[in-house]
Amino acid sequence: MHIVVPVFLAIAIVLWGAGSRTSAAFPGETIRIAILKNGAAVTVAGDGILATRENGDALALAAPVDIKPENAGISANGMFCRRLRISAPLAVYVNGKPYRGVIEITPADKGLLVVNELPLEDYLVGLINCEISSAWPIEAVKAQAVIARTYAINRKNARKNALYHLESSVMDQVYDGCLIEDSRARRAVTETAGEVLTYDGAVIQAFYHSNCGGRTEAAANVWGGTSPPYLKGVECQYCLTSTSSVWEQRLTLRVIEERLKAAGLKVAGVSDIRTGVRNNRGRLKNIVVVSSRGEVAVGGDQFRKAVGYGVIKSTNFTVKVAGGEAFFSGLGNGHGVGLCQWGAKQRALDGFGYGEILSYYYPGTELKKLSDIR
Ligand SMILES: [Zn+2]
Repeated sequence: MHIVVPVFLAIAIVLWGAGSRTSAAFPGETIRIAILKNGAAVTVAGDGILATRENGDALALAAPVDIKPENAGISANGMFCRRLRISAPLAVYVNGKPYRGVIEITPADKGLLVVNELPLEDYLVGLINCEISSAWPIEAVKAQAVIARTYAINRKNARKNALYHLESSVMDQVYDGCLIEDSRARRAVTETAGEVLTYDGAVIQAFYHSNCGGRTEAAANVWGGTSPPYLKGVECQYCLTSTSSVWEQRLTLRVIEERLKAAGLKVAGVSDIRTGVRNNRGRLKNIVVVSSRGEVAVGGDQFRKAVGYGVIKSTNFTVKVAGGEAFFSGLGNGHGVGLCQWGAKQRALDGFGYGEILSYYYPGTELKKLSDIR
């Protein structure tokens, strides 16, 4: 599911003021996804692969192609080049996984950078089953298609001159190639073709998460700064029908201490963990860690990041410490900002259309075609 860490928040916060006006074309819109960073080696295969080097000349390579970094360039089956672009009629396989479009390999600071450049709409079809299940009610799948498209275009506009627009992990949107495309995912993308969410004419920052646990969160409560008008948080009882809205976790204080230390926090001999101040949405602003060095208030998102986003699933929890162990009991999954995926599922089951679902979670926004907002 979708978890945002502060690394790219700096960019997000800068964008909140103005939004990002797209100059993107549709339907020829493409997107560039980093599928491997700092790779030591990569194997590319596929039927009928066509490879070109940095000057556009074809490079005669027989699949499988073994690629390694070499002297500020790369070596492909022993041949040196600065950049390699590989395509195939059906799919290019990277370390055994199929991808549509073009695979581009360049040397990076440490190892290889592998980017998949493909039509935006194809990317969305592959992404849907990485984020939710296409077996969900179709209106919820369509809502997911629109926010993933919106999120991708916003990132593309923000990273115009970068080597790629999006990560393929929870840093941005989870994407694992075209292996899990299916007809319902394709239908949701086709029936919303080119549609994005806008506010005041600009493509919005379409943050989303798995399960809000009862109310969605204001963006500023998670990342500081000011919340854009469409990310101030709404009530959402709909996700509470799902078993995924509650979580429990048991960790020894020793493990928590190790993880906090690894994240750079000065704690030693942790003896207690207590909930600190809650914000107006019910989530913890901070968690109090008691150690032999005294009490330290750790920010809610900082605590999740240090201990593990998948371990501490939300900042809405209570905690009890006994016998050297901490017992967490929480509500929701993810940062809580923007659309709640499990809430959207329930709204779709209740008969709402994807447009109604989206305008509920992002108040004041409008659905527009990319081609109409240039
Ligand atoms: Zn919810």
